[in-house]
Amino acid sequence: MEFNKIINIVHSDTKFSIDTANYLRGKLEKLGYYVSEVFDFTAELVICIGGDGSFLRALHTYDFADIPIVGINTGHLGFFTEINPDEIDEFLNRYINKEYFIDEMNPIEAVICTRTNCINAMGLNEIVIKGDKSRTIHLDISVDDHLIQRFSGDGILISTSTGSTAYNYSVGGSIVDPRLNVIQVTPLAPINTNAYRSFTSSVILPSYATLKVNPEYRFEDSIVIVSDGAEHRHDSIIEISLRLSELNIRMLRLKGSEFWSKVIDKFL
Ligand code: NAP
Repeated sequence: MEFNKIINIVHSDTKFSIDTANYLRGKLEKLGYYVSEVFDFTAELVICIGGDGSFLRALHTYDFADIPIVGINTGHLGFFTEINPDEIDEFLNRYINKEYFIDEMNPIEAVICTRTNCINAMGLNEIVIKGDKSRTIHLDISVDDHLIQRFSGDGILISTSTGSTAYNYSVGGSIVDPRLNVIQVTPLAPINTNAYRSFTSSVILPSYATLKVNPEYRFEDSIVIVSDGAEHRHDSIIEISLRLSELNIRMLRLKGSEFWSKVIDKFL
């Protein structure tokens, strides 16, 4: 980690987030840090103020910049944004004394190929492939070029271990301990009848697996791709190839912030 005393503050537009950002900026400047007005890609740290949604949007807006990131929670759940605004002084002390660790996470990346070109999408939580017009979609799903099923239903959600507690969990997927770096494929309202056969539970794949999804040709114009909540519409998708990215999101965490304590705290 390089230290140049430049820090980016990114915040949501609620009054609480703006007030927290102003407070933090004052504290940082007193400590001799320079808080950049515009996002500085050479900064030593990004501090994101908001909820998990703001945290994800910050990553996407700045193209998953290779800078450690930490979140201050002024939102609701705060799974990524684990520092509370009233802990800012303690956080700064710990940061200066280097009492933290860096947690590295790989997003899932998709190459979406249409009849004319290929486009990339990235998701730290997940990438969802679903029908556009409330109709059943049919997807051929292959793992490492072996066709494993023809899925029929609302769609599929491809989650990272990090994202397993998000949308994946709401649709019946498993919470994955982040020490396991896996890809989880969770069906959205799968049809499992005499007419169509789809897996009804999640499928877990190793980190090095490649997933290919080919929509049945009649439905290729009615597919929507959603990465971390952001919708992408493309005409005539013929193949979506997904794998874990080699990119590392470097999340700064304070010592003692354990995954399972957070799950118990936020979910039970
Ligand atoms: P959003 O309103 O920003 O987020 C929806 C909820 O998901 C919020 O409570 C958010 O926490 C929480 N969340 C996000 N990432 C999480 C994680 N890794 N672990 C646990 N909870 C997490 O919704 P959005 O802008 O549409 O999409 C952002 C993310 O929200 C997506 O990546 C997706 O995983 C999740 N989402 C969930 C559902 C669902 O559960 N039915 C539906 C759509 C999207 P904060 O309150 O702190 O922001």
